[in-house]
Amino acid sequence: MWNAVKRLAIYPKTEMLYIVFTTGACNLRCSYCGGTFDPHLVPWWPTYEIDDLVELIERDEEAVVAFYGGEPLLNPWFMEDVIRRLRGKVRFVLQTNGTLIRRVKPIIPLEMDAILLSIDGIEEVTDKYRGKGVYKVVLDAARYLREMGFKGDMIARMTATEDTDIYRDVMHLFNLGLFDHVHWQLNVVWSERWGFEGWADGSYLHGVERLAELWVSRIEEGSVLGIAPFQGIIKRYLDGGPNPPCGAGSDAVAISTDGRILACPIALEEGWAVLGRLGETKEIWPVERYPEIREGCGGCSYFRICGGRCLYTFKERLWGREGFDTICRVTRRTIDTILGRLNRIWKAVESGLVSWEEISYPKFNNTVEIIP
Ligand code: SF4
Ligand code: SF4
Repeated sequence: MWNAVKRLAIYPKTEMLYIVFTTGACNLRCSYCGGTFDPHLVPWWPTYEIDDLVELIERDEEAVVAFYGGEPLLNPWFMEDVIRRLRGKVRFVLQTNGTLIRRVKPIIPLEMDAILLSIDGIEEVTDKYRGKGVYKVVLDAARYLREMGFKGDMIARMTATEDTDIYRDVMHLFNLGLFDHVHWQLNVVWSERWGFEGWADGSYLHGVERLAELWVSRIEEGSVLGIAPFQGIIKRYLDGGPNPPCGAGSDAVAISTDGRILACPIALEEGWAVLGRLGETKEIWPVERYPEIREGCGGCSYFRICGGRCLYTFKERLWGREGFDTICRVTRRTIDTILGRLNRIWKAVESGLVSWEEISYPKFNNTVEIIP
């Protein structure tokens, strides 16, 4: 209870995000993921009673249900069932590789408030990591969604690797005219170590700087490009938010197909992540369950914006202390790049060219983790 009071003093209670695995299976095998889970770890079909899931979610006044996997659209029957039971009561989000969108009933995409399509930028980079032909299929999915009348937030979700030119790839995705927002995550910690530091200094941080300059110049002209990490940094600057920013273990939990309630959808094998079990756990009250993330950041002056970046990285330290510090350096530079232009953004807002509402994003936790 004390933790809850402490947290509520930091920022007001918002909605609870439930990341619901519909399956552990995937029809792709992307390099940084590996595809289908061992069914002993994440069963391919939910093994719990759907009533227990619905009952838990319905207790929240404001909830977001994000369908996740594996590839969630491999289990459209489960999705339809959840949608029919919770429609009108919650917001829905779908994270998908986009390959199966034409095969499911329109009710699934049309009920979504946000759809995140996995795509890494230009064709060559996307296909190298996600499989030959995937880029074209994802674009076809995005066009199909627009044609069918999907009016929600369409987000390109990138994984940034050593082949990523962040400026080129983000702008390529915007120039397609299909996506409302582009978000990226760095391929760090859960992958094998690679030349991250050299790439960050030689390419990535320059690209972030260029993107930020373009983003702020556009704001000064009265338009806001939907670059999710930049908008998220502004949101944290204005409103604060959970720690880590994705909400893992506080405002966000993942429900595995075996009914385990986890702090983070990546931490499927880690005991620290298990918060309860469907059918047994009656309430998920937003509370800071991992205060050590704040303590471990040791009074870092970026904490209010960064929030410790990622609970999984913090707990697991798979790249060691030095790797963690390198990622922190990149995070700080990214935050500086945006907040260093704050005066210009303030002026644009004060002159009525744009509003903070337009700049700040996301409006609800739609699984965009904010800090890349
Ligand atoms: S930059 Fe690093 S030390 Fe600072 S708040 Fe973020 S994760 Fe913690
Ligand atoms: S950002 Fe980290 S803690 Fe949050 S959901 Fe992703 S892996 Fe888990």
